[in-house]
Amino acid sequence: MSEILSRMRPEKKFEPEQIIIAGANIAGCVAAIELGRAGRQVILLDKTDPREEQKTPPCNGCGGIIQGKTARILEELGVQIHDITRRKLDGFIVTLPTGEEITVDAPMRSVYRGHGPLNAEAKSPGLDAKLLESALKYPTVQFYRGEISSVDLSLGNQSRVRLKGGIELRSDFFIGAFGHSKLAKNVKVLKNEKLDAPITRRSTVIEYDIGEDLLNEEFGSYARILVLPFDKLKKSDSSALFVLLAPKNDGAMTMVIMGDKDITSHDVNQLLESENLKKALSANLLNKIKMKELKRKGGCGICTCTINTITVQSPEHYLINRMGGGILIGDAGLTRLYKDGIGAAVATAREAALSIIKGDFSSYRRKIGREYPPDDHFYAERYLRLNDAVISNPHLRRLLMLAKNTPAVSQLLIDPHMRHFLTGDVAYKNILPSLFAEMLFKIFDM
Ligand SMILES: Cc1cc2nc3c(=O)[nH]c(=O)nc-3n(C[C@H](O)[C@H](O)[C@H](O)COP(=O)(O)OP(=O)(O)OC[C@H]3O[C@@H](n4cnc5c(N)ncnc54)[C@H](O)[C@@H]3O)c2cc1C
Repeated sequence: MSEILSRMRPEKKFEPEQIIIAGANIAGCVAAIELGRAGRQVILLDKTDPREEQKTPPCNGCGGIIQGKTARILEELGVQIHDITRRKLDGFIVTLPTGEEITVDAPMRSVYRGHGPLNAEAKSPGLDAKLLESALKYPTVQFYRGEISSVDLSLGNQSRVRLKGGIELRSDFFIGAFGHSKLAKNVKVLKNEKLDAPITRRSTVIEYDIGEDLLNEEFGSYARILVLPFDKLKKSDSSALFVLLAPKNDGAMTMVIMGDKDITSHDVNQLLESENLKKALSANLLNKIKMKELKRKGGCGICTCTINTITVQSPEHYLINRMGGGILIGDAGLTRLYKDGIGAAVATAREAALSIIKGDFSSYRRKIGREYPPDDHFYAERYLRLNDAVISNPHLRRLLMLAKNTPAVSQLLIDPHMRHFLTGDVAYKNILPSLFAEMLFKIFDM
């Protein structure tokens, strides 16, 4: 009831002119571009500069898969996405635990977030550098390198940001685009206001140089997803449940490993030695993946790391809607759980900037709240379990394959379902309603 009343009540409007953005990666830079276009004064702060090639990890701990829709938005924002595309992709080949393969079509592309882990010739600025360069084309956008130690949104009409080293900056409004940073714990708000931090889980990224021939043979224009058996009783097994193999250019491939718990180096080693991987991959590809020296050849000092976290629950409170307040966007705020974090960072950043320009967050709450619902973890958890149950049951799995191989059923039901599930184009909460609507449209040829 209170939610309905609050929707009917017009939100208070306010017009921030100066905005500080904490974090100059995807979400921060996209917000800066949109605010810069509107002539707002923006200070972008980050402890690192994505234009500089960093040693660890040059891949930025990300699979670097960008969905077609996100690429289109970035192009609209003036970001030259083709300059940083490593490979254009037509979708995923999904290998089920029992070896069956399902192809899911979805236009997307692979990029590096950093400069790429390959040899010197193949290195070039990645997505984050490109975004920052695009933001800095606007004269009202400035970038400063510095580590933020605290943020104070409890002062009334101004927000205050403190950097390590004692520098203090003030603005009309604050944008928290700082990902899964500890900084979330150092944001002070008024007693009757609240901001939360996301709940995260550790995953792993490993970069490989497998050679262009094998890459073309095994991937062509598809990324691969391996779904591993879900059996919690087998304690000795790896916690890994989901592996993404994202082909890049010049023979490079990024491997992302996620699980139902934090992924540790023990889990990675168990996975690399497991029968499951042997069943899912060709002998050639498996051999390359197991030859660890290939990773070192990449010219990247550390090519495996387990510090990367994904969001498994978004914050419930992400907005302080007044002058001197702030909003959390990208990984720091509402996002898509487990997948399409880049798409979510772009969408939430753009909508937050447009709301600041309008001085009104009501459409942000409606639009982003619907696309990235704060309670989506509840649906995600059940949805993932449902998929595990179907995949691990031989009768249901056979039914799934039968449906996939029956064109009419596949087109109506299986393909759109798999696409939603793998690309994260809709919230978990909305997969079934979207599926139902799409089915009706197809049946009635609308
Ligand atoms: C293993 C893994 C694989 C992934 N693969 C994909 C994929 O293939 N496709 C996809 O769409 N998504 C993927 N994601 C998700 C995606 O990487 C994130 O959703 C995305 O990076 C979020 O962008 P962001 O700008 O919100 O945050 P971030 O990219 O985390 O940027 C936050 C910025 O804030 C800065 N910062 C933090 N604290 C401070 C501070 N105190 N002071 C100053 N600066 C600070 C950081 O330096 C950083 O530059 C993956 C994630 C993981 C972990």
